[in-house]
Amino acid sequence: MAERVWPGTPLTSRDLTEGKVITERWRPEAQYEWSTGESMSHFLAELKEGRLVGRRCDECQLVYFPPMSFCRECFVRTGDFVKLKDTGTVETFSISYLDTDARRIEEPIFVAVISIDGASEKMGFMHYLGDVDKDAIKIGMKVKAVWKPKEERVGSVRDILHFKPRRGR
Ligand SMILES: [Zn+2]
Repeated sequence: MAERVWPGTPLTSRDLTEGKVITERWRPEAQYEWSTGESMSHFLAELKEGRLVGRRCDECQLVYFPPMSFCRECFVRTGDFVKLKDTGTVETFSISYLDTDARRIEEPIFVAVISIDGASEKMGFMHYLGDVDKDAIKIGMKVKAVWKPKEERVGSVRDILHFKPRRGR
């Protein structure tokens, strides 16, 4: 295949660092607020209390977790909020030697998609696993939330530190 030659003057990164071209650096300080809406507001408020809630569709009985205001199957408003346990099942997981900034780390972090007990299928909740050896993590493993102390909770999914293996039933 013939190499395509684009019009213009090619630049290398060295041309930039050596100041051969005019550059401008600018760090935007965008500040914004986001309304979480009815369902997510309730979800976050309940997290602060150490509780998980879903929301049921009265038409098809799906229990959404996290709660949603509309059913994506029936296109109708969902009904009541449903109290759920803080336990679930690992659907899939990843053992990562990169942190959230993609830097290499010695001790891996474990990220899992968890089906919360009482929610419908395919409502996977992504969170960390902890208090577990990496070789012990399995798909289908029963887990339970480990919460931050009440005074440290702010109404965030990080009010849950991680999920740990659940012994017995
Ligand atoms: Zn529905």
